[in-house]
Amino acid sequence: MKNVTILGAGASGLATAHFAQKQGWSVQIFEAAKEPGGRMQTTQEQGYLVEHGPIGWLENEPTLDEVCVDLGLEIISSVASDTHRYLQQNGALRPLPQNPEAFLKTPLLSWKEKLRFLSEPWADLPEGSEEESIFDFSSRRFGAGFTEKIISPIVRGLFAGDVKKLSLSAMFPAIQKAEEKHGSLMKTYRKWAEQGSAKIQTVSGGLGQLAKTMADSHGEAFHAECIVDTALFEEGWWYLFCQGKQLARTKNLVIALPPKQAAVLLREYLGTQRSVLADLAGNDLISATLAYSRDGVQDSCAGFGYFTDPTRESPLLSVQFIHSIFPHAAPKDTFLFRCLLGGPSHPNLAETTPQDLLAWAQDEISLALGANEKPLRTWIHASPGGVPQYDLGYNKSVTAIQKKLAHYPGLFLAGDALFGVGINAAFRRGAELAQELSRPRNEVK
Ligand SMILES: Cc1cc2nc3c(=O)[nH]c(=O)nc-3n(C[C@H](O)[C@H](O)[C@H](O)COP(=O)(O)OP(=O)(O)OC[C@H]3O[C@@H](n4cnc5c(N)ncnc54)[C@H](O)[C@@H]3O)c2cc1C
Repeated sequence: MKNVTILGAGASGLATAHFAQKQGWSVQIFEAAKEPGGRMQTTQEQGYLVEHGPIGWLENEPTLDEVCVDLGLEIISSVASDTHRYLQQNGALRPLPQNPEAFLKTPLLSWKEKLRFLSEPWADLPEGSEEESIFDFSSRRFGAGFTEKIISPIVRGLFAGDVKKLSLSAMFPAIQKAEEKHGSLMKTYRKWAEQGSAKIQTVSGGLGQLAKTMADSHGEAFHAECIVDTALFEEGWWYLFCQGKQLARTKNLVIALPPKQAAVLLREYLGTQRSVLADLAGNDLISATLAYSRDGVQDSCAGFGYFTDPTRESPLLSVQFIHSIFPHAAPKDTFLFRCLLGGPSHPNLAETTPQDLLAWAQDEISLALGANEKPLRTWIHASPGGVPQYDLGYNKSVTAIQKKLAHYPGLFLAGDALFGVGINAAFRRGAELAQELSRPRNEVK
């Protein structure tokens, strides 16, 4: 039988294992942590379903639909009417306009900024082929005011990144292509606006249940609490070790680890690309979840949540209204808020005490949403490395890393540092890798 060894049981490793097994591969998975899931971690207690990492995936992803059908998991979709997001400006929450016409009415922008936004079809095209940051691209097309007030808080809230460093071509290649094709983004934007916001999906026990069910489907082939610290390649075989003990010998190895850990494991084979891979990691992200009695909060807290105002220089990036997105995740008489803290302006938050982090989140909820009372319950969780940052130069870095490792047949990479951030991208890569495993390989060069 064909054998493959997978390191890491996050979304990427688990998806690869699932699809490889379906294609007839015998699979072994080694995971450092006690539980599978990687950044997908869920706590279920006293009627609350608390996600510490991702809260769900974007609907209409065939690979996730397929896995849920295969494993008998029922998909739960976010409430359709609650996809509305807000932007915080001078302390107030303003609805994020959903189409070009709504931008004319929004108090978020001045008249001058609105006119500049509407003149987008006549904006200059790029002068050369030089890679642009999201900030530079958006300023060129829509104006600096629009970029600072609308684009920066959204990108910061979604990706915990610096909009002046993130690469447009790496993060949003479809947007770059739309400009190349139409010379303007308005046509594409209108099409997307008509489609409406995509719903978010999960399963009844949250992403932790998805991960556990996927890991359990491999029985004893899933090995928890195995920190693989050494990978040696000799005569076509990969040898894997944990503290000097050999765990496995395999011709087919999938590394589905976060970039820092992958860089350490492949140190001998990456050469100078080692630090390039490690540097793709983001800053730590903190997830603080707070439950309140509905009676003690003034705001109606309907919709998806809001992106915070970057000019406040607060570590708060976004607040999600979990009770509204997934009503099953909180008792009916409560509000459940998920605050994300971190990002480029606060790189060392993991050194802050949980009490201080929760106090930040609590102050935010009091000021922005009018919570008069203390929270009923709180949860706090750190995701080391947050989400990888696709900064300027990213595409070149990825090509160099892949070129270096292409010398080793039977070595395959997965993970969100190289194949797109998010659950959808992880599952798509897993399905693609299962196909790739069966293709003919090059020999060692
Ligand atoms: C706070 C937060 C919120 C997010 N929200 C969303 C969201 O709502 N929707 C969305 O789609 N995405 C979201 N994301 C992004 C998403 O979580 C990731 O892109 C995705 O989970 C990455 O999965 P992965 O398998 O590539 O990596 P990981 O989940 O990091 O998995 C890697 C695994 O490797 C294991 N490992 C590490 N070292 C070793 C070793 N030496 N040996 C063996 N195992 C090892 C780790 O323990 C881990 O289980 C969010 C991320 C964060 C941090």
